[in-house]
Amino acid sequence: MLRLLASCPTPRWIVSATVAIIGLISVGLMAQLLQDNAYAKPASDKLECDNSISLTSVPVQSEASLAPVIHDGDEFTAPSSGDPKLEKATFMMLVRNSEVHDARSSIRYVEDRFNKNFHYPWLFINDEPFSSEFVKMTRSLVSGNATYGVVPKEAWSMPDWIDRQKAEECMNTMESHKIPYGGMESYRHMCRFFSGFFYRHELLADYDYYWRVEPNTQLYCDVTYDPFTFMREKNKTYGFTITLHEHESTIETLWPTVQDFSRAHPEHIHPNNALDFIVDDQKSITEGSYNLCHFWSNFEIASLKFFRSQAYGDFFDALDRSGGFFYERWGDAPVHSIAASLMVDKAEIHWFYDVGYRHQDYMHCPEPLAEFHDSGKCFCNPDQNVDGKSYSCTNEYLRMRGDLGGQ
Ligand code: GDP
Ligand code: MN
Repeated sequence: MLRLLASCPTPRWIVSATVAIIGLISVGLMAQLLQDNAYAKPASDKLECDNSISLTSVPVQSEASLAPVIHDGDEFTAPSSGDPKLEKATFMMLVRNSEVHDARSSIRYVEDRFNKNFHYPWLFINDEPFSSEFVKMTRSLVSGNATYGVVPKEAWSMPDWIDRQKAEECMNTMESHKIPYGGMESYRHMCRFFSGFFYRHELLADYDYYWRVEPNTQLYCDVTYDPFTFMREKNKTYGFTITLHEHESTIETLWPTVQDFSRAHPEHIHPNNALDFIVDDQKSITEGSYNLCHFWSNFEIASLKFFRSQAYGDFFDALDRSGGFFYERWGDAPVHSIAASLMVDKAEIHWFYDVGYRHQDYMHCPEPLAEFHDSGKCFCNPDQNVDGKSYSCTNEYLRMRGDLGGQ
């Protein structure tokens, strides 16, 4: 199983632009999606890691008021953190001190569109201690508790089986080919942390679900229901808003490593998986090739139980041992996406179609005007929705769901 990469990857610029133009989304599939999101409608309408790693954390109690708030014209008593009506769930943001203003912006969006009525806690994680300035500037915006933690060193360093010299040569090669973040070691630690460590952080130990938030992201629609309750009640494992194609040059040996894993651990491959999302032409894992589709993981609402499972642990260990997080630049988005697509029932994957969301150049904006815009629920421009673009994987996702039937 140990895959030793003989050399650095040869970058190829055959990426998302090669994907065929997506046709119009069929009315039937869209109706199915909206039906799937019916829960979201207002009632009136319509590895090799030792689990014992020690962590440093500074719990901080929010000073925000927990007084009842008025919601949509109705009396609405907000639950407090620790309220039995709240799920065992938290927001989670990995962030640098220098990103405090981008972090504040994201917090403001999440609080305004959702959390001001729910008061879920926030968890901020950093590879170095947070500054008192960061704590002050973020604590003042959250309506639930805020806790600040540090990534343990073991989860932010090259493991001893990595050949550092070879890794540096690979980074230099990727940088010279102008591969995004190709020369950055810290970016690799970040991707590996999200791939194999965040769910083992002691500050997440009491939670069953997390909502990942990144600095400089925007939320454009009111979320008037509890998505964590939705996840639990509907038995969902992994939720996303945007799908994209990965830069192939960053993951050239990822799929062969996954194929090896599937041969070594057939017991971890779910019989009703979502392989059809990541492999074209109905080919098997070992005969097909990866179509580069992934859920864009800077937004995730997902089950921690899944990431803590034996199946995911074996999967991450196999990937980590192969060295691709350092010799290439494997992102946590394809890693999470491939894992979710192979190891859970496809019915457990949920598109939060109703959540308008932007990060950098890509925005998901729900399109039906009557449902999402006329009421003032959303304020994004549906003409800029990423879903119909060739670099999105909406088509592959809908194809995968095609034989799902109503949920
Ligand atoms: P991109 O979205 O792929 O362009 O990558 P980002 O630079 O936005 O990084 C993804 C997430 O990891 C963001 O939440 C960043 O704040 C965080 N992140 C990336 N690198 C570091 C780092 O070196 N230290 C810390 N603390 N956070 C990081
Ligand atoms: Mn980002």
